[in-house]
Amino acid sequence: MVNSVAIIGAGPSGCALACFLQQRGVECVVYDSDKTPPLMVGESLVPAVMPILRRLGIEQQVADISHIKRGAALRHGNGNRVDFTFQNFGKKFPDYSYNIPRPQFDRLLKARAKELGVRFIEQRARLTVIDHDGKHTLRLASESLLAAGFNRKSQPDLLVDATGRARLFSKLLNIPASRGPRNDVAHFAHYQNFKSDAKLEGQVVLTALNCGWSWQIPLKGVTSVGVVMNSDAAKQYGRSAEQRLEAVIEHNALLKQSGAQRQRVSEVMTYSNYQLMADRAHGDGWVLLGDALGFVDPMLSPGVFMALNSAELLEKQLFETNKPVNQACAHYYSKMRDWHDAWSRLITYFYDGRMLSMGQMRDHIRDQSSILSISRYAEPLVSRVLSQLVSGVGTCSDFNQAVLHHTTEHLIKDKTCLHYNQISSALSPQDQHSLLSLQASSRMHSAAPDIAIKA
Ligand SMILES: Cc1cc2nc3c(=O)[nH]c(=O)nc-3n(C[C@H](O)[C@H](O)[C@H](O)COP(=O)(O)OP(=O)(O)OC[C@H]3O[C@@H](n4cnc5c(N)ncnc54)[C@H](O)[C@@H]3O)c2cc1C
Repeated sequence: MVNSVAIIGAGPSGCALACFLQQRGVECVVYDSDKTPPLMVGESLVPAVMPILRRLGIEQQVADISHIKRGAALRHGNGNRVDFTFQNFGKKFPDYSYNIPRPQFDRLLKARAKELGVRFIEQRARLTVIDHDGKHTLRLASESLLAAGFNRKSQPDLLVDATGRARLFSKLLNIPASRGPRNDVAHFAHYQNFKSDAKLEGQVVLTALNCGWSWQIPLKGVTSVGVVMNSDAAKQYGRSAEQRLEAVIEHNALLKQSGAQRQRVSEVMTYSNYQLMADRAHGDGWVLLGDALGFVDPMLSPGVFMALNSAELLEKQLFETNKPVNQACAHYYSKMRDWHDAWSRLITYFYDGRMLSMGQMRDHIRDQSSILSISRYAEPLVSRVLSQLVSGVGTCSDFNQAVLHHTTEHLIKDKTCLHYNQISSALSPQDQHSLLSLQASSRMHSAAPDIAIKA
């Protein structure tokens, strides 16, 4: 039985778990490094978070600081575009979500946890690795026990790693991770006057780049613009994060047009090496949560939902199943793997060109097919399934995944079109050439950033 818990990390996963535990009357402390950067990724939410925000009692406060989001779109320089509108799925899942200012969102979660009575220790937890029955495990060092008011000799029943990409426990215990296929780096910043190509309120617009993709997330008063590309390819756009972000925008016709009047109003942040899943999620008295367990990919914005969902899943397994802690954690891990695999499969359709190709064929069928055509009447079902998949409401559903699989197989007869719609991770020789031209013209107009290019 778990009666006391120490959570390390006060991001969405750690704070949500703390709230849920506190609501159950479980003694819980959160160690918090309290170093929130001014800008953080995780700015766009999927509708599947809404029931969790309501359970946490913070939907209205989130709405007050955020921009409503009614869908997403992926567009390509070749003119293809696919739009996703969130649909209503019963009372629980509304047809919207929010684009959030992340630092404020985290502060809000923390304030809510404090309001519920959670204790925060404004320092990093110190942990020691010990040998227990021939296995390495973790214990809180006595100074951290004392700081949290625990007895020097009695450990909390469960230690939770919610340190996100810092992956504290995995590093201490040498837990390996399975890595995803891409090796991307993301650079992003906030801009004013970045023109939107949105067709829906708060629509997040993704743009396929020659070797990656870009996001535009409308927030209150600013637009978050990020580029995600292969780390080696990114180096060819410049030395610094600022140079790279600006050069990618200048190099892509769609972004250049949207950003013609842009003014950057924040520093440029960088994230890399994020597609991974820990090979173990729990052990004797410890468990991994949120990004500390794993992160799929930023493409469809599943991260904050997965972080909050991991907190809810763990809490339910620990307190609603009567299973011993070890079994409850094993079940939690298996459910998290299912989620991770389902998002990963879905994201593949975006990277390999099937989603854009399917969107192209769907439009064609809607416009051309006769009133009696079966395909024409299947279209609302496909739209509903797609909405369930990308909103997180039905991402794990075998039925939805099967419909997506069969629809793409059926609609994309000409597989050569995949090539034109895929999001590649390497620069083609033509791209390299045009990048050289861009550099030359940037030098002529010296206001443009200096771009370092490999010959
Ligand atoms: C490029 C990119 C874009 C993304 N875009 C989106 C998006 O649009 N939408 C979305 O939903 N998700 C997005 N994500 C993912 C999202 O940001 C994460 O999934 C989410 O923040 C995970 O929450 P978390 O609580 O697990 O970890 P985090 O948010 O990383 O929180 C971890 C916390 O632990 C603290 N900490 C770290 N080490 C210690 C320590 N030793 N002691 C105490 N505290 C510590 C940190 O300061 C932090 O507060 C994106 C990710 C990337 C890489």
